[in-house]
Amino acid sequence: MNSYKNSPLSLIQIKTILIDRRKKGFDHVHFTGGEPTIVPGFLDLLRFSKRLGYTVFIGTNGTMFSSEDFAQEALGYIDELSLSIHGYDAVTMQEQTGNKHHFSILETSIFKNIEKYQRNNFFFANIVLNQKNYRHIIEILKFIQGSEYPAKQVLISVVAPEGLAEKSYSDVVFDLFDFQKYIPEVVEYCNTYGLTVRFFGLPTCLLGSEYLDYSNDSHWEERHTIERFIDTDGKISLVDIFTPDNSRKRKYVEKCSSCIWKQKPCTGIFSKYLDYYSI
Ligand code: SF4
Repeated sequence: MNSYKNSPLSLIQIKTILIDRRKKGFDHVHFTGGEPTIVPGFLDLLRFSKRLGYTVFIGTNGTMFSSEDFAQEALGYIDELSLSIHGYDAVTMQEQTGNKHHFSILETSIFKNIEKYQRNNFFFANIVLNQKNYRHIIEILKFIQGSEYPAKQVLISVVAPEGLAEKSYSDVVFDLFDFQKYIPEVVEYCNTYGLTVRFFGLPTCLLGSEYLDYSNDSHWEERHTIERFIDTDGKISLVDIFTPDNSRKRKYVEKCSSCIWKQKPCTGIFSKYLDYYSI
């Protein structure tokens, strides 16, 4: 991580990619991280992307939206904003983010600023479930619904064994069959309050035919991800990762061979999950 901090991408590099991809016909850009809003010059990047004609999507924990000035300007360039909310009170939020102030900052400034300066933006809530919070999914939804954050859609993701979560997977993985019992209540709650809900990382057979359309897999669109890569010699390059489907580190098991949902929409179960549980 430090090596990345010591050699950040320059704004010129990012803008060059944005221009190149726009010329090639791309019209949707998604800034993600880490936390993209803390990148120096991020407002400049948003402005630049809009000027090029992109639909702009950001995934954020909200850090910079605690500033009224940032929120006011940024929301003028952002089309879609996904705010990560993985807890429902000060204790659970600290457990999830490691920041004891995160809950109060969310309540006292981030939600308020977003609500105050919203334009025609589309707001998502992003809930990543792990061992500590999956039993509290309804509390988290109630917290979001009762807040000033104007969420229209909720993405509920099962933690994926990637990055830091891969290294500490035994501490975050949980039994998906135990989570399955919450699905009807989650869907009913979201439908009651007009929230669109999608699940990521759940094999389709856990949702079943009744909840098939709530799988994010059913709505996947192919994408290119530009990532910075440092090889073992310390050489830095940018890699373009094309993902035509969402099979990220997933595999099929024996029972998948005769499954009607194999390939579309289901790309299986995270391989590493099978080291802990079966499906
Ligand atoms: S392909 Fe496998 S994991 Fe996916 S729904 Fe079918 S049985 Fe379940």
